[in-house]
Amino acid sequence: MQIPPEAFKDNGDKMKIILLGPQGSGKGTQAKLISKKFNIPHISTGDIFRKNIKEETELGKEVTSYLNSGKLVPDELTNKLVESRIKEDDCKNGFILDGFPRNIKQAEFLNSVTDIDYAVDVEIPDEEVVFRLEGRRNCSNKGCGAIYNLNTSPKPKENNTCDKCSSDLFQRDDDKPEAIKKRLEIYHEQTSPLIDYYDKKGILIIIDGSRSIEEVSQDIFLALK
Ligand SMILES: [Zn+2]
Repeated sequence: MQIPPEAFKDNGDKMKIILLGPQGSGKGTQAKLISKKFNIPHISTGDIFRKNIKEETELGKEVTSYLNSGKLVPDELTNKLVESRIKEDDCKNGFILDGFPRNIKQAEFLNSVTDIDYAVDVEIPDEEVVFRLEGRRNCSNKGCGAIYNLNTSPKPKENNTCDKCSSDLFQRDDDKPEAIKKRLEIYHEQTSPLIDYYDKKGILIIIDGSRSIEEVSQDIFLALK
């Protein structure tokens, strides 16, 4: 999607945004579009973890030790990492947080260190999430790594063969319907209180994420004005 340069604007401190929505809602794509349109950094917890691990910071070493022992990174550590990231210079005019907060404790922490202006909830029915995610197929050739989707795009030319290297495609266990449903349950359990929390603050924006990327982003841009 092309965004004309005149669409860039400085909204002062009025652009601290968090993005809610399940995996498969297109939230990551929307975060990138919002980041471009309003010229604010797109911050995901995954990226913060990777950066700190790569630069071998003290917090990064802590993250590594949790990940290596197969444990979840605890809220306290994630909170510290997010706090230090949003205090960086490029966040002066705002930011868009993707994947944080994930639960009410994290939301309360965030509230104690900054004021969020908008909580955008990209909603999509569970059946649609399952449909979108269960169509995923990965190329079995590790050196290729191509990813397809039989239900959305990009569709491979032949159902079980990689367009690029002709290797077989396979479905990851994570993308099987039972695993997707399990993740959705956890998502709803943790997110419903978050939605109430931001609704009570009067900054919740609910967006119908079941439409095309362009339609969804147009709605978000209108709501953020
Ligand atoms: Zn391939």
